[in-house]
Amino acid sequence: MSENLMLKIIEALTGENGRRIVEILLNSQGGRSDEELAQELNLRVNDVRKLLYELSKQGFVAYIRMTKGESRWYSYYWYTDIDMLKHSINRRMNEVIRVLNERLAYEESQTFYICPNDSSRYTFDEAFENNFRCIQCGFELIEVDNSRTVQYLKKLIEVLLTIHKYR
Ligand SMILES: [Zn+2]
Repeated sequence: MSENLMLKIIEALTGENGRRIVEILLNSQGGRSDEELAQELNLRVNDVRKLLYELSKQGFVAYIRMTKGESRWYSYYWYTDIDMLKHSINRRMNEVIRVLNERLAYEESQTFYICPNDSSRYTFDEAFENNFRCIQCGFELIEVDNSRTVQYLKKLIEVLLTIHKYR
């Protein structure tokens, strides 16, 4: 997986500023403090901290805690590297592909019904129990053609697996 593709995925997950932080940290030696990042990106320190928290939750960045000189206060230095990004993106992709496969199996496993009046969705069992009438409004339910959803999910899984292969 190319660095460019990884950055695109990180941008999709955490926004443009999340991607910019990761980009700076990738090209910095010894990491950056949140204040330095805020200055470089022209953002408020609080916003940078929120982004760093989000990025670290997803495993894209980490920090080391250091004291500056004689000071009793800690500074946090944020860093990342390609391996950390690869690892976290792969973990995340495995999870997404697993959920999509479950959803696909669910969609393929049964017939669904929908209320033409308020768009409530029912499984066959639910529709059957209610004599194929909507619980909300009493309208007669119609069978859903979910083949487009199935096609869409299949395509999406295929695309993700292709990206995954080139990690
Ligand atoms: Zn209804």
